[in-house]
Amino acid sequence: MSSGRTPRGQQQRAVVVGAGLAGSLAACFLARRGYQVDVFERRADPRAAPAGVAGRSINLGLSARGMRALRDVGLLDEVLKRSVPMRGRVVHRPDGTVRFQPYGVAEHHILHSVLRDELIALLVDAADAQPGVRFHFGRRLELLDRDSPTVTVRPVDGGDRVTVAADLVVGADGAFSATRRMLQHGLRGSHSQTVLDWGYKELTIPPDPQGRPRVRLEALHVWPAEQGLMVAHPNRDASLTCSLFLPFDGPTGFTALDTPAAIRGFIARYMPDATALLPRLVEEFTSHPTGELVTVRTTPWQHAGRVVLIGDAAHAVYPFYGQGMNAAFEDCLVLDRCLAREPDPAGALAAFEATRRPHTDTLAELSTRNFVELRDRVHRPGYHLRSLADQALTRLAPEAWVPLYTMVAHTTTPYAEAVARAKRQDRLLAAALTGAAAAGVTALAGAARAVARRRSRGPGC
Ligand SMILES: Cc1cc2nc3c(=O)[nH]c(=O)nc-3n(C[C@H](O)[C@H](O)[C@H](O)COP(=O)(O)OP(=O)(O)OC[C@H]3O[C@@H](n4cnc5c(N)ncnc54)[C@H](O)[C@@H]3O)c2cc1C
Repeated sequence: MSSGRTPRGQQQRAVVVGAGLAGSLAACFLARRGYQVDVFERRADPRAAPAGVAGRSINLGLSARGMRALRDVGLLDEVLKRSVPMRGRVVHRPDGTVRFQPYGVAEHHILHSVLRDELIALLVDAADAQPGVRFHFGRRLELLDRDSPTVTVRPVDGGDRVTVAADLVVGADGAFSATRRMLQHGLRGSHSQTVLDWGYKELTIPPDPQGRPRVRLEALHVWPAEQGLMVAHPNRDASLTCSLFLPFDGPTGFTALDTPAAIRGFIARYMPDATALLPRLVEEFTSHPTGELVTVRTTPWQHAGRVVLIGDAAHAVYPFYGQGMNAAFEDCLVLDRCLAREPDPAGALAAFEATRRPHTDTLAELSTRNFVELRDRVHRPGYHLRSLADQALTRLAPEAWVPLYTMVAHTTTPYAEAVARAKRQDRLLAAALTGAAAAGVTALAGAARAVARRRSRGPGC
C-alpha cells in the first residue's frame, strides 16, 4: 500500500498546485492518507474574498459522483446545507411557454445548485483544519522538475522564487495547467485542446421586490435556441444565476450584440419571457467578462509515481452535462483508492490514469453532444416523448432500465460503461418499437433485466 508514510514511518510530503475545487478536495484526501500537504494557489484566499470576481461566480450542479467523494471525507452535509435542490429542468420555449421535465423518477434524482466560490471556501477551510495542511495563496507555479520532483513558485505580487521538494506533486491547476505543460514536456504523448466557438456571460435574475423568487426556485431553468442558450441555477437568496451561451461571431454573437437595443432585442426575440426576469440585462451584459469553454484530452497524466494531474488539468470538458466538477471530485476519490491499493507510487499513478482516462474521454464526447441537445432539442416534442418513454420504462423495470442521463448524473457508473449500457438499451427499445408493440414492452423489460445483470464495476481502481 502506498501511503503518506515512508517504510520507516516518516511523513511524506505532497505539493498540490491550484486550490480550486479539485486541489482543495485533494488536499483533504491526501491529509487523511497521512501526507504533509502544501497547496500553492495563484489567487488570493477565497475565504477573504468570497464574492469572487463580478460576473464569474457561477453556480455548479452537484450530482452523485461529486456527492460520493464529499461524503467520503465527511463534507457532504455541510455542502448540502449551502445548496438548493434542483428537481428537474424548466424549459422556457421560444414561444414563451414553459414545461417542467423532472430529472428522474426517484426521490434522489435531483441535483444541488452550489455557488462555486462558497464551495471552494468551504473546501479550503476543511483542508486547512487538517493537521499538516498549509495553503500558500498568491503563489504561482513557475517551474516543475518532474523527476526530483520539485516545484518553484513565485509570489504574484513580486518577490523571490521558492523551490520546494516533495514526494508527490498533484497538478490541479485547471484547463490551462502549467503543471501539465511541464509534466509532458519532451515526453511521448498526445494533447488536444478545442476551444468552442461559443462563450458565456453571467447574468442575474434577482428576487422580486418582496424577496420571492421570480420563477420556480427548485429547478434548473433552460432557454434553448439555436441562436443562443441560457441556463439559470437557483441560489438560497431566491435569486438565480444565469449563464448565457452565445457564439462569439455571427449575427447573434457577442460581437454583434454591441448596443443596448441589440442586447434587449436578442432576448425579446429568442427568450421572450426572460425579458421581465433580467432587470439588469444590459448593465450585466456589457460589464461582465465573456468566458471561454474548452475541451482537453491529454496524456500522460502522470510521471514515475511523482507527478499526477487531476480535474480540469487532466480532462476539461464543456459544461453542458454539468459534470466537470463532479468528475474532478471523483478523480480525488479514485486517486485516493489507487494510492491505497497499489504497493508503489508509480503503479498507483499509472493505475489512476488507466482507470480514469477512458471515462473522462467519454465524458468529453457526452458534454459536446449535450450542447446540441440542450440548445436544439430539449424543447422539441420528440425529446419530450423520448423522456416520457424513459420514465415509463424506468417505472416498469427500475433496476433494468436506466436512462443515460440518470446513469451519468445520479449514479457512479463509470461514464464509458454508462454509454455502452445506454446503447444496448437503445437497441432494445428500437427492436421493441418495430416489433409487436404490447408484447414488445414486456420483452424489453425482461431483456433489459438481463442487461442489468452485467453489473458495473463502480468508479474503479
Ligand atoms: C459556465 C460553467 C458552468 C459549469 N457548470 C458545472 C456544473 O454544473 N457541474 C459541474 O460538475 N461542473 C461544472 N463546470 C465545470 C467546473 O467548473 C470545472 O470542471 C471545475 O472548476 C474544475 O475544477 P479544477 O479545480 O480542476 O479547476 P479550476 O476550477 O480551474 O481550478 C484551478 C485552480 O488552479 C489555480 N491555478 C492555475 N494556474 C496556476 C498556477 N500556475 N499556479 C498556482 N495556481 C494556479 C487557479 O487559480 C484555480 O484556483 C462548469 C464550468 C463552467 C465554465
